Amino acid sequence: MPLKNPDLLRSQCYINGAWVAADDGDTLNVTNPATAETITSVPRCSAAQTRAAIDGATLAQREWRKRTAADRANVLHTWHHLMLEHQEDLAQIMTAEQGKPLAESRGEIAYAAAFIQWFAEEGKRTYGDVIPSPFPNSRIVVIKEPVGVCAAITPWNFPAAMITRKAAPALAAGCAMVVKPAEQTPLSALALAVLAEQAGVPAGIFSVVTGDPHVIGGELTSNDKVRKLSFTGSTAVGRLLMQQCAPTLKKLSLELGGNAPFIVFDDADLDAAVAGAVASKYRNAGQTCVCTNRFLVQTKVYDAFAAKLAQAVAKLKVGHGTESDVNQGPLIDEAALCKVEALVADAVQGGAKIVGGGGRHALGGTFYTPTVLTGVLPNMRVAKEEIFGPVAPLFRFDTEEEAIQMANDTEYGLAAYLYARDIGRVWRVSEALEYGMVGINSGIISTEVAPFGGQKSSGLGREGSKYGIEEYLEIKYLHMGL
Ligand code: ADP
Repeated sequence: MPLKNPDLLRSQCYINGAWVAADDGDTLNVTNPATAETITSVPRCSAAQTRAAIDGATLAQREWRKRTAADRANVLHTWHHLMLEHQEDLAQIMTAEQGKPLAESRGEIAYAAAFIQWFAEEGKRTYGDVIPSPFPNSRIVVIKEPVGVCAAITPWNFPAAMITRKAAPALAAGCAMVVKPAEQTPLSALALAVLAEQAGVPAGIFSVVTGDPHVIGGELTSNDKVRKLSFTGSTAVGRLLMQQCAPTLKKLSLELGGNAPFIVFDDADLDAAVAGAVASKYRNAGQTCVCTNRFLVQTKVYDAFAAKLAQAVAKLKVGHGTESDVNQGPLIDEAALCKVEALVADAVQGGAKIVGGGGRHALGGTFYTPTVLTGVLPNMRVAKEEIFGPVAPLFRFDTEEEAIQMANDTEYGLAAYLYARDIGRVWRVSEALEYGMVGINSGIISTEVAPFGGQKSSGLGREGSKYGIEEYLEIKYLHMGL
């Protein structure tokens, strides 16, 4: 990997300001999904090491919370600048371990850094309240305080941004954070820790512990000193973690799975809809929780939309993320590839037609050809399960009511998209969608300034925006007798 600063590539964990191996020296290999080669290995840390990270965070947080918000913001701003200064190296590390095209990795580093900048500033605005007292001889004041020691368990699809959008509000609010990154992508997390250390984040305030999810997750969820868990990942694991947090009653933010509908009405600008569809579906090879899972297309424009989409998708270049002009890299692993294959096979067996792609890519490995399916029906697996791959299933509908009913016919409620020009329809449908986020004539919705999160089985809480920092703040009410 051509790094200007090879020091960013680490094979040790960062616990309480020290770079360490596992207690017993055990390691975990990190693999490049495009080549199947081992990049390096990281420690398989023990529960005792996780406990040490939590203990260190507890001590360090007592001092960190006393500093002014402006003081903490200065440290965060330095971290933000360092990320941008090392954007290219961070992107190279990300593409190596995750597979996404370099252009997307560079974009994610900028996006990840933006959360740090945003929350550095939001930390200064954690206002309280003065409530008019119902009693003549007392006054009522509300203040906001940091929650304390927080834990984050993060996924592999956004190896940097899913960490900063938890760690930045936590640190800005005066909390400490222990992160367990996904086992597939720990190197981006460790590179962030290198820069946090350089930026002056005090020892113990930001630790990264790598290894077995059950061992580290078990400690993070059961330890009484951890007051909050923020998790991004599958709904199944989210439910499990919620259960594990129940005995110690932690605060929870859960950003879980989705089954995003993308509704194309017959008054839509079809070219704009196709551009939005490609952006929403094929980014990161379809491996994001807000990627479209189901295209619902009104009958009158169904054939035209399908033809235009297939044409656009045929132009996507599949390859190693490090090659120039590549739009789509490999899937993260063999299991992901097998799932996509099984879902497509199920749809085809049920009568769906492949109008583009439809199988493994000639490059081999975990590369899959961008695919479009028509004639897809609500009883097929692609209608219910998160595809997490570059496959666009097209369902047909006739009326607005039918579109809303189909869109909401899922346990999930993260992102939804709709393309239409009739302003009344846009409002009616947006309000009827049981989703936390709605993209209207827009296929990309993620930004640090807006609240990201879901309803129903897609989770709890919001990340980013002015709302995101509230997840790391406690409300305390002071009743003052005069
Ligand atoms: P994905 O399907 O995207 O890999 P997961 O929910 O399996 O989603 O993983 C997201 C994160 O949750 C990863 O960091 C993974 O290591 C972690 N994880 C998975 N299972 C557990 C568990 N039982 N306890 C704690 N963390 C877990």
